[in-house]
Amino acid sequence: MPSMANSHYKQTNGTISNNDSRRQKILEQRKSLPIAAVEKRLVEEVRNNHTLIIVGETGSGKTTQLPQYLFKAGFCHDGKLVGVTQPRRVAAVTVAKRVAEESGVQLGQRVGYSVRFDDMTCGSTRIKYMTDGLLLREALLDPRLSRYSVIVVDEAHERTVHTDVLLGLLKNVQKARSQSANESVGRANSNNDTNLEKANGVQMASPLKQGQVAKLPPLRLIIMSASLDARIFSEYFGGAKAVHVQGRQFPVDVFYTLHAETDYVEAAMVTIFQIHLEEAPGDILVFLTGQEEIESVEGLVRDKLPQLPEGNRNIVTVPIYASLPSEQQMKAFMPAPDGFRKVILATNIAETSVTIPGIKYVVDPGVVKARNYNPRTGIESLSIIPTSKAQALQRSGRAGREGPGKCFRLYTEREFEKLADSTVPEIKRCNLSNVILQLKALGIDDIIGFDFMEKPSRMAIVKSLEELFLLGALTEEYKLSDPIGNQMAKLPLDPIYSKALILSSQFNCLEEMLIAVSVLSVESIFFTPREKQEEARTAIKRFSSPEGDHITLINVYKSCDEFLESGNANSSKEKTFKNMKKWCKENFVNGRSLRHARDVHRYGSSLKAYCERTDALSGSNNLKIICLSQIRDHVKQMGLRIASCGEDMLLFRRCLAASFFLNAALKQPDGTYRALASSQMVQIHPTSVLFRAKPDCIIFNELVRTNQNYIRDVTRIDPMWLTELAPHFYARQD
Ligand code: ADP
Ligand code: MG
Repeated sequence: MPSMANSHYKQTNGTISNNDSRRQKILEQRKSLPIAAVEKRLVEEVRNNHTLIIVGETGSGKTTQLPQYLFKAGFCHDGKLVGVTQPRRVAAVTVAKRVAEESGVQLGQRVGYSVRFDDMTCGSTRIKYMTDGLLLREALLDPRLSRYSVIVVDEAHERTVHTDVLLGLLKNVQKARSQSANESVGRANSNNDTNLEKANGVQMASPLKQGQVAKLPPLRLIIMSASLDARIFSEYFGGAKAVHVQGRQFPVDVFYTLHAETDYVEAAMVTIFQIHLEEAPGDILVFLTGQEEIESVEGLVRDKLPQLPEGNRNIVTVPIYASLPSEQQMKAFMPAPDGFRKVILATNIAETSVTIPGIKYVVDPGVVKARNYNPRTGIESLSIIPTSKAQALQRSGRAGREGPGKCFRLYTEREFEKLADSTVPEIKRCNLSNVILQLKALGIDDIIGFDFMEKPSRMAIVKSLEELFLLGALTEEYKLSDPIGNQMAKLPLDPIYSKALILSSQFNCLEEMLIAVSVLSVESIFFTPREKQEEARTAIKRFSSPEGDHITLINVYKSCDEFLESGNANSSKEKTFKNMKKWCKENFVNGRSLRHARDVHRYGSSLKAYCERTDALSGSNNLKIICLSQIRDHVKQMGLRIASCGEDMLLFRRCLAASFFLNAALKQPDGTYRALASSQMVQIHPTSVLFRAKPDCIIFNELVRTNQNYIRDVTRIDPMWLTELAPHFYARQD
């Protein structure tokens, strides 16, 4: 049995007692978790059941402890991995850090994580946290997931589209591996179960006969969920066993507003101060819908702080959301300075996927940003919608982890009664072209016949197939096309972005498109504080292009690069970082987003570590490249020609028209726009540089639905380009 002792953990003189006491504390904390009492039983259940469902209250220790139990029980012998998937990258990163610390090893060694564009694993990693999307991509190169002995699908109740597709895929992988294990040992003994256990220990080194696939131990699958809907998972997996882990939950008093709130952002700010002034010590967790809202509340709190009586200004805010760089996310987990109250401003990330200690109060406006898809129009939009009752309950539960707590719902009790019981799975409300492309690349051609846990509508599938065909990823027989479809499936991006990159190599503007796609893949790189809107607008004008937002974004990115290059080339990393921060502040650019975009593009936060480790990984280099490297490496690897169009941005805009033709819109006499593919009426978002100019014909990046249908990231094009560059779609129309 592998020892829990740690060889990587070096302690220097003088810190031993400190570290020892910290480790002691962690050990005690681990032992006191509800799951610790059932460790033996859980390990037994995993041994006896190829598929197991574990349901337990958030905070009971499922995510951090179970993988460690499995490691200890020997599920990683033969160099196999326990993989744990999370719907969100932030959860994968923070949990891996915590588990590495608990096991006393360096992150990236025995315990690691792997998320899009960021990898912290090595050849000796045995417990690997990752996003569900990343495991789907791994399956492209290793269809039987041969490196894993156990896969834990965590947070399955969230039912993200990736989780749903992954479950279908894992069902197939399990079947394939059971068959291969049966074939390998079935002749010797007829008792299947003991044989499968034996197969687990069999050395797989013998040369394969022609046509025979490598023998693998069966894949164990564990599905973990916070809410109590084990039944549907169990039914899907042929009556798989479900076990419940008793959680610990203190009572939480729930308060509603008497009247509906018109501005929940403002109401959240008022509630934060009310709690701070009237309630006992304890941290506050506020649920908001996204980065912009979080920054807006941060600003409001900062502005109001000086108005509080002296002695009451001891409050700190910390943001946490998916696209926040991980070093910054970790701040939410650190205790507030002595005597301060911490206010965590979070997206629904904090609902179940991460457990932040110290929360006593929850502020819940009752809304969430969600994807919505209309298969008739083919339009996917982001909109802010009410949460479900199940979500509201999860949120209030966060206040009762360590003691009794309070939850302030910023809506009326009547409104609560009207909420839906549970959230509709994402697969029923999103554009499916991304997952269909991946399934096709995995050799699953019959999408309508695929065994989904919950089938998306036929119309949604057909619409997405059609879209992939129009983008050139599928042939007329709806097979993956070569090379375009294959190349698109390899890129870890939305199909439309992948198409833009591939085309841009022909339009001689791949450099520019790489920047545009990187920036579009992160949240807004502009930062407009409520109180400095005019100043911010003036600052943005310095970068803005009359041609539209895409070129404006590229201008910002390039200006920052130029500024950094103009400084001392030999200056230290810290100095560069500091300079960039200052530059961003002066130019009203969101430093966090810009840095993230740079990571996606080419500088990847752990890219250096990756280069250092590649020797140790000889066999799985391909895997690294397809799953983890920055997009610039991807396109190089694919052999695309990286060239710049220099000042000739006409080429770039033509390339945008050729790839985003499904998102083209024409101006109407009243100044609004008609989206050509869907005939939807839309308006340019006020943050666009083209908001006032209103050109005749445009392409846009996304549709956001608030009280209006707003389109964001808009660029001016010539309508004639559409018939010229996308004749298969526009030649028939006028
Ligand atoms: P579950 O998956 O059942 O919701 P977790 O395994 O995520 O539970 O968390 C179990 C406990 O571990 C939490 O209640 C918390 O006390 C502790 N914990 C988890 N992550 C961290 C962290 N990053 N920092 C400090 N404590 C943590
Ligand atoms: Mg968990």
